[in-house]
Amino acid sequence: MSAFEFRTVPHIVFGEGTSRQLAEKAAPVLKSARRLFVVTDKGVRAAGLIDAPLAALEAAGFTLETYDDVVADPPEAMVLEASARAKAFGAEAVLGFGGGSPMDTAKIVALLATGDQPLSEMYGVDKVRVTGLPLILVPTTAGTGSEVTSVAVITTGATSKRGIASGALYGQMALLDPELTRGLPRHATAATGIDAMVHAIEAYTNKRSKNPVSDALALTAMKLLQGAIERACADGNDMAARGDMLLGAMLAGQAFSNSPVGGVHAMAYPLGGIFHVPHGLSNSVVLPPVLRFNAPVAEAQYSEIAGHIGLKPSSAALIDEMERIAEAVGIERRLSQLGISHNDVPRMAEDVAANDRLLPNNPREMGYDDIVAMYEEIL
Ligand SMILES: [Zn+2]
Repeated sequence: MSAFEFRTVPHIVFGEGTSRQLAEKAAPVLKSARRLFVVTDKGVRAAGLIDAPLAALEAAGFTLETYDDVVADPPEAMVLEASARAKAFGAEAVLGFGGGSPMDTAKIVALLATGDQPLSEMYGVDKVRVTGLPLILVPTTAGTGSEVTSVAVITTGATSKRGIASGALYGQMALLDPELTRGLPRHATAATGIDAMVHAIEAYTNKRSKNPVSDALALTAMKLLQGAIERACADGNDMAARGDMLLGAMLAGQAFSNSPVGGVHAMAYPLGGIFHVPHGLSNSVVLPPVLRFNAPVAEAQYSEIAGHIGLKPSSAALIDEMERIAEAVGIERRLSQLGISHNDVPRMAEDVAANDRLLPNNPREMGYDDIVAMYEEIL
């Protein structure tokens, strides 16, 4: 057995209705902190998801300041503005409540609010030198797993993103209440669910840091998600399916936070960065060609995943199943459906080929010509 390390959020609360118990569940994490800075977005606010938890926190004696200006693909200026607000408020703890963007923003705000290290010095791997404020994360989507990952991604220019990867980004508690995901539209449910399956698949096939803990989490995540995505899409009020999806996405998040994603995410990033295709959808579209490309060297691992979720143990069965799920839930399958044409391929492929953070995780080496061929396959 190879040596490995595994880290995750120390305290996880899961269950229907648990968001209404946020004040009591959070008490041991918040300790003496009384001034709580809440990071969310207008959509979460408008849906009324956060009203009851915040009212309960106020009733329990917390002083709250809510920042609800988070937008998708959080721009650097917005993150800095939120951090300045937290500092001016005298925040003693941070609560991130929403999808991947509010949670990523909250993770960085918890670090910046201490004022001890500028954001510009945090980009990259293990560059964070500060211990952040106590941080609680509450997801309202089932996909990113951001509530248990040590990564946050920020938009730094028109088409550029930068990431922070550091153990300092782990929160002290993740609270998962399937009720909060009940109102997610069908298309977003499908795309983010498939993204979570991609997290599990890529964690399981990472050639550098795959380990027995991430493997176990990835396989369990695959089983939960495979069974639940279609049920949740068919009936958004199927709370058993919603719960399985939220749990599966979290387990996949724990897996890929320790055994990071590879070629599928590398191929997906230009779709988001250049064409603003949502993250989950981007990954779903590029998944089949990357699986086919990797299959000759990842046959054993893809077969193990396929066998674990009740399919014939072969890479072909796994690829067929992923394509079948995308078809069944009505997810776009071709780049042309997303407004991307043949002429865009070279620019996107150059971006991917330059991704020296993710490509080394992929089971099979991907060169520029391979990347072009994979995009061409799904035009
Ligand atoms: Zn993803």
